Order: sequence, then C-alpha cells, then structure tokens
Amino acid sequence: MSRRIVIVGNGPAGHRLAERLCALAPDTDITIVGQESEPAYNRVLLPSVLAGRLAPEATFLARHPEGSVRVLNGVRVVCVDRAERQVRTADGLDLPYDDLVLATGAACFLPPLQGLMEQDGRPSKGVVALRTLADCQLVEDQLPVQGRIAVLGGGVLGLEVARALTERGYGVDVVHGGAHAMDRQLGPTAGALLATALDGLEVRVLAGRTATAWTGDRLVLSDDSSVSADLLIVCAGVVPETSLAREAGLRVGRGVVVDEYLRTSDPYIHALGDCAEVHGEVSGLIAPAWEQAEVLAGVLTGESRAYAGTRTITRLKVRGVDLAVIGAGESEVAGAETVVVTDPARGQYARLSVLDTCVIGAVLLGLPGSVAAVSQLYDSENPAPNDRLALLMGRAVASPAQDPGSLPGQTVICRCSNVTKNDLATAWLRGARAESDVARATRATTGCGGCRGSVQEICRWLHAKHDQSDANAGRNDEERGSPVDRVPQSPARRSDHRDPVPELLAP
Ligand SMILES: Cc1cc2nc3c(=O)[nH]c(=O)nc-3n(C[C@H](O)[C@H](O)[C@H](O)COP(=O)(O)OP(=O)(O)OC[C@H]3O[C@@H](n4cnc5c(N)ncnc54)[C@H](O)[C@@H]3O)c2cc1C
Repeated sequence: MSRRIVIVGNGPAGHRLAERLCALAPDTDITIVGQESEPAYNRVLLPSVLAGRLAPEATFLARHPEGSVRVLNGVRVVCVDRAERQVRTADGLDLPYDDLVLATGAACFLPPLQGLMEQDGRPSKGVVALRTLADCQLVEDQLPVQGRIAVLGGGVLGLEVARALTERGYGVDVVHGGAHAMDRQLGPTAGALLATALDGLEVRVLAGRTATAWTGDRLVLSDDSSVSADLLIVCAGVVPETSLAREAGLRVGRGVVVDEYLRTSDPYIHALGDCAEVHGEVSGLIAPAWEQAEVLAGVLTGESRAYAGTRTITRLKVRGVDLAVIGAGESEVAGAETVVVTDPARGQYARLSVLDTCVIGAVLLGLPGSVAAVSQLYDSENPAPNDRLALLMGRAVASPAQDPGSLPGQTVICRCSNVTKNDLATAWLRGARAESDVARATRATTGCGGCRGSVQEICRWLHAKHDQSDANAGRNDEERGSPVDRVPQSPARRSDHRDPVPELLAP
C-alpha cells in the first residue's frame, strides 16, 4: 500500500507541498483537505482582485496533474485522532494517515473593539476582516455606490487594501495605532515620506490613534474624534490557526511549534506556513510558506535538509508608491555599516545596511531602479560594490534583469507568485512569447508588479538567445547539408531538431 499523507489546509503552503510531493514521490497517496470552497489560490493577489485588476480565478494556483492528489475543497477537518492516526472531517469522514501535515494558515485578528463583532465572534454588519476570496466578495457586496471606507490597520495589507479602493474612486481613511503607517518596518523619516506619498493618492492615514468603537457607520477613535464610513475593513494582523493542534495535544506557542524539519511534538505530524512556529517565530509571509513546502517535501521523501529560515523582501503593492523592505530593513544590526540617503522633494529615501561586505538590509522608497540589484545582492550574499551610493541610485551593479543569462535558474523573479527565472523560460518554451502571455502562464507581474522590468528583460533575453540559437542551428544544419525548415516553429517542433531546454534553463 502506498504511503498516505494527509494535508490539512489547501492554501499556498499545502498546495505547494502536494505539488512537490507529487514530483518527488509520485506513488504517494496524497489527500489535501481545505475548508474554503475555491481551489487553492494565492492570497497575496487579493488586493489586485479588490482593485478590480484581477479576476478571482486569476489567483488560482496551478492544478495538480489529473489523479495525482485527492483534493477535498469545502471540507473542514474537526479533529485529529493521534492514537488511530486519522483525521475526521465536519461531515463525518475519517481519513487515515501515515503522515499528517497541518497547513491551516492564519485567521484575521479582530481587536477587542466595541461593536466590531457579533455575539458569535463573527464581524458585525458593515465590517469585513479580509483574508479570503470570499471576504473580497463580501467587500464587493457591501461597497456603497459612493462614499467613504475605513480601514483598521496601517500595515502593509491595510495600505494595499486602502489603495485598491481609492483606485476604484472611494475615499479611504486608514486608522493606525502606531506613530506612522508601516511603523514596524519603517523609521520616522521613511514613514513621513510614505505618508506624503499616500496623501497624494487620497489615502488618508490617521496615525497615533486607536479605534475604540464601531457604531455601524462611524469609527470612534481614542482622541474622541471619529471617521464616518459606509464599510470598515479590518487589516489588523493575523493569528495562526492552531486549534486542531491544540485540541490534539500538540505543543503550541504562538503557532504550532515545529523543529527545523518542520516536525511537531508528534513525529507523525508536521506543520508549515502561517500556522507554524519555527525557530520561535511565526512568519505570516508567503516566501517562508513556499520554502517550507520545498523543505518538507524533501523531509517526507527521505531528504535530510533542514529549514534554515527564509530571506524575506516585502514590496508594498500600492500603485504610485515604490517601497521595498529587504531583510533587516531599518533595524540596527551590531557592526553593520549603514548608508542613508534622503531626498524629500522627490519622495526618495534609501537606507542600506552592509555587514562584512554583504547586504543584510535595506529600505528603498521611490527608487525602483535599485530594488532588483539590491535584492539580488541580498539573496546571493555576493559582495556589495564599494560605491554604495551608486548602488542605491541603481547605477553600480547590473541588476539581475540587465544580465539574465548570469542568473541561476532558481532565482525568484516574482516574489508574489514565487516565479523563478526557469519558470519564465519554461513558459516561454511552451509558447508564451509576449510579456502578457508569460504573465498569464506564470502569474508573474500580477501582484505588486515590481518584477515587471525584470520579466521584460528576461523575455528579451529569451528572444535573443533563441534567435542566436536558431542562427547557430541553421549554420550547423547547412554545414551538415541537411534541409532546414525556415518557417517559425513551435517549441515542440523545434525539439525535433535539437533540445532547446538546456540552452535556456539554467541550473
Ligand atoms: C490579502 C492578503 C495579502 C497578502 N499579501 C502578502 C504579500 O504581499 N506578501 C507576503 O509575503 N504575504 C502576504 N500575505 C500573507 C500570505 O498570503 C500568507 O503568508 C500565506 O497565504 C500563508 O499560506 P498558508 O498556506 O500557510 O496559509 P493560508 O493561506 O492561510 O491557508 C490555510 C488554509 O487552510 C484552511 N484551513 C484552516 N483550518 C482548516 C481546517 N480545520 N480544515 C480544512 N482547512 C483548514 C484555511 O481555510 C486556508 O484555506 C497576504 C495575505 C492576505 C490575506
């Protein structure tokens, strides 16, 4: 009998794990149970759905090959029976497992605010806590014809949601308890410049005030002022979904506690993604979820690679503002050399931290030209150039986009959708030639859009490489005296003559 792996949670982490398990151990009997009714989708793209730029279906992740994974959508797991090694679903189905994986993600945090919740803990009328595609539909259903919307929480998500709605013509007030928006990532100078940029986009941030009550059409603030709103969207943080683990008696801290092999306190149960607490931390970000899925697929198929943490880069997906927080961001790191440049008139701010010649953190506001190069240095741990200023101005180092041929194939180009250089090349080889086709095939550029320049450059490079390889092949064929079909060919047809994959897919 094949080994049975049951995955609870069909979010990005669970989905990616199933995908990798299929590739590494096709004989495994994989069942994935997700309580949402839609197929797995990429939550990172939800602000684009809210803005009306992306159809809900465009967020869906690639389907698993026919017959490879049993997917139960709209099904909730209610209990884990560790003694019998099976899980029970809300409709009474028992699913036995050899290995169980908890990929239950996180839920929105609802602050204890008068009038925010009904007795049963659900958001009150006129309030949406945004986490799912269904929540996007709830927002859509309750949007006024015109009017004001309040957003509770001025972190990354709150700002993205606010901007999505101003793009649709709504006035939006963001209420934020911190000194300025994104105060967890930004210091006061960058915070002030961000506030100015947001103001220019009709996103009004009311910082340094907490909300105390929601009346149904008004959000009352701690200084006794209030903002009127037809709809309140809560983006005040998340809480890891640990209830199954807790009830099953597993070790739970802020998340389900796992070791570096993503193993819980029960050796037959693993956890990953937003629900997991690894190295004492819960991440709440997509990149660690993707990476943990890769690691866990290896662990479950006999590899012994441990999860060592993820290099994170946060890019604000707000049209009209270019902001990237790389690695340590503005945090002080002992022994690090720091370069800070501010140009308030142009809304530009850069802070770079370098330790032992390596970039360990940066904040780049209004400097889109330098993000790709700094990110690449951070990812690769290659030495930063001595001319730090030139680097921050986007002049010192060829960005990965400017020299795609030198990039390793596994370099992540689109962080929102985890698209690597090889994924782009594969889409291209399968016939996606225009940037829009490549975007449709891979979802690159559909999130923050910050990778658009890199994707364009890679497409250009693929064209050039391909033309060059055509010319070489033609020459070789002529030398051999064989007939050559000069009509443009499909990738499949080309492979009759030669295999183009090694030329364009890098190790
Ligand atoms: C609007 C939005 C925008 C975001 N933007 C970014 C961004 O720009 N960058 C970034 O890094 N991160 C972003 N995030 C966070 C990112 O989406 C998460 O880190 C990521 O989704 C985590 O994946 P996951 O699979 O661990 O959890 P989830 O995506 O939460 O998926 C868990 C799934 O498990 C299901 N589940 C839970 N309990 C059960 C049960 N008992 N039975 C069955 N199913 C269950 C849930 O319903 C859910 O479908 C964003 C999040 C949101 C909501």
